[in-house]
Amino acid sequence: MSYRAEYIWIDGSEPTQLLRSKTKVLPDGADLPIWGFDGSSTNQAPGSESDCVLQPVRSIPDPIRGGDNVLVLCEVLNTDMTPHASNTRAALVETAERYASHEPWFGIEQEYTFFKDGRPLGWPQGGFPAPQGGYYCGIGDDEVFGRDVVEEHTTACIDSGLEISGTNAEVMMGQWEFQIGPLGPIEVSDEVWLARWLLYRIGEDHGVSATLNPKPIKGDWNGAGAHTNFSTKEMRESYDPIIAAAEALGKAHDDHIAHYGAGVDQRLTGLHETAPWTEYSYGVSDRGASVRIPWQVKVDGKGYLEDRRPNANMDPYVVTRLITETVCKDVEG
Ligand code: ADP
Ligand code: MN
Ligand code: MN
Ligand code: MN
Repeated sequence: MSYRAEYIWIDGSEPTQLLRSKTKVLPDGADLPIWGFDGSSTNQAPGSESDCVLQPVRSIPDPIRGGDNVLVLCEVLNTDMTPHASNTRAALVETAERYASHEPWFGIEQEYTFFKDGRPLGWPQGGFPAPQGGYYCGIGDDEVFGRDVVEEHTTACIDSGLEISGTNAEVMMGQWEFQIGPLGPIEVSDEVWLARWLLYRIGEDHGVSATLNPKPIKGDWNGAGAHTNFSTKEMRESYDPIIAAAEALGKAHDDHIAHYGAGVDQRLTGLHETAPWTEYSYGVSDRGASVRIPWQVKVDGKGYLEDRRPNANMDPYVVTRLITETVCKDVEG
């Protein structure tokens, strides 16, 4: 019996890259070959030289099709097998290898907003729901919208072996979060992209689209972020390296902010549990800081920190690379 491999890649859309995928039918037992696509349709190549290469890098059981079918995450290469300009994973692989001795771990909180009929799921036509207050971790038909999709997505992630660690309803009606990790930088990033793909795909079956727009509704409504929790071996053993990491991140603030997702300035306003994008700060338990050291970490005297700045639409290959580089370079002095 043949099986189906869904080849998934990240395109060249600007300012935020999007997911694409197509299906390859393979003979029973066949390995996953490299494949190609029309880069002129994905902002990755001119029409005159349109071929781009798909290099499989991670394969998981396909929880939607079941059976022997698989989802195959790919890197995009040029036809000479060098990384394509849109391929941000290749640089992360180099960084992860260089700093592997520090054993960096990441836990990413992916927030997103369900949309239907051009407005957030559950919102009344042409108006606003009750102000924020009861939606975060809410329960009940008047507070929560889209839980059936969330449950199906979580089951799909577990069934395909992704390291999903939790979900919750968020502060704005129709907004949700899932967490992936803790895992190494490449693994967590691959899994965030695969979990995003599964979310969009399962949304199709329910007639809802998930968006990573960092500020889907202007005004007094929370934006959507991707808090990035981070530790090294040193940070998991004692407290001083956590402070050192928070200080190092402050020195590189502008570079990080520039790569934390399009529209970061619209989300990091200083309101709605954010720090203003123009200023760096860190603090224990402080959800109004750029970087938060969880209360329990302070009590334990070891653990991790939370970088609250990345947008929901950030590229985890870029964010985990920058954090790894900034903190590990500082440790090595
Ligand atoms: P919040 O209280 O900010 O909502 P969450 O519970 O949503 O936090 O997410 C915390 C994330 O931190 C989880 O993905 C978890 O796996 C991750 N995490 C826990 N310990 C570590 C660690 N030592 N290093 C990196 N990430 C960690
Ligand atoms: Mn969270
Ligand atoms: Mn959250
Ligand atoms: Mn958080």
